Amino acid sequence: MKKMKELIDKANNIVILTHMAPDGDAMGSALAMWHYVRNAERSVHVIVPNAFPAFFNWMPGAAQILIYEKQGRECDALIAAADLFICTDFNDPKRIGPVGTKMLENKCPKILIDHHLNPTDFADEIHSHPEASSSCEIVYRLIQNSLNTDIATCIYTGLMTDTGNFSFNSTNAELYDIIASLIRAGVKKDEIYNAVFNQYSTDRVRLTGYALYRKMRIYPEYHLSLITLSADELDRYHYQVGDTEGLVNMPLQIADVYYSVYMREERPKPGTPKPRIRISFRSQGDRPVNIWASEVFHGGGHMNASGGEIFGTIEQAVKLFEQTYTKYLKK
Ligand code: 5GP
Ligand code: MN
Repeated sequence: MKKMKELIDKANNIVILTHMAPDGDAMGSALAMWHYVRNAERSVHVIVPNAFPAFFNWMPGAAQILIYEKQGRECDALIAAADLFICTDFNDPKRIGPVGTKMLENKCPKILIDHHLNPTDFADEIHSHPEASSSCEIVYRLIQNSLNTDIATCIYTGLMTDTGNFSFNSTNAELYDIIASLIRAGVKKDEIYNAVFNQYSTDRVRLTGYALYRKMRIYPEYHLSLITLSADELDRYHYQVGDTEGLVNMPLQIADVYYSVYMREERPKPGTPKPRIRISFRSQGDRPVNIWASEVFHGGGHMNASGGEIFGTIEQAVKLFEQTYTKYLKK
């Protein structure tokens, strides 16, 4: 902590980075640190690799976030000029794509605040706590003496989203002491819940219905569910970033389903011939999905929540899934 404060005190151009497809914990941890370090004397920017869902637009500070995919040049200049990086909610520069390559070209100090397993050795000051509910919990522990309502609101958002509104990774009693102090700092918890979970478009809710009704396949022997959505199907419901957030958790509501996989097709970008199939894995209890995600789908993650990808068709991804699930999952 002392070292973190020294690094921050010395810095004049701070860039805060968080992971691709930012979720509430990524947004919350990055923005809480932005509020914490910014002052009149220094330049501080949050850069995310790609767009974040519109249901985080209300977060204090969200409007100033730069999106690398859209504002690449401006971001490159800030990254090159940075004298300190603060990296939140990712454990490997690969998880931030081309932003990671640019960051590593700048040899200035880097602080890592993260709760994913086995961070690669790229940061100078590491706050890595895989046992924590969220990166926001670690941020809280680091800056709890400087809370204000904005910081507390950002932290609460990450705690809430990374624990599924306190339904998993949230049995540690201390977490509720933290929540109490966030509420004392002015957090309006019910408003945050509504802003994140009750502002969906009609299309989003109908897409969820379609996915569950028409596209969910169950493999009963392995307590496994698979949902796939092609780019055409997503277009039909005017898919926006974040519209299928949480979809992968829904099959776990079924009594005998303990594993859930969701595949989403992205159209090929210019210069890449094949579509990208983005894959989310979830499981319950002592049933790891991260090894499957990493060995077969070029990804990884937590035991019960992982991600991966393949470049190819949905059919190819499903084939790979069907060829391998018996090896990695428990009956
Ligand atoms: P999601 O399904 O929400 O995209 O990802 C779930 C979790 O899996 C994330 O919190 C992250 O920890 C992990 N994850 C997702 N994609 C990847 C990936 O490509 N590589 C690694 N190592 N972890 C991933
Ligand atoms: Mn997280």
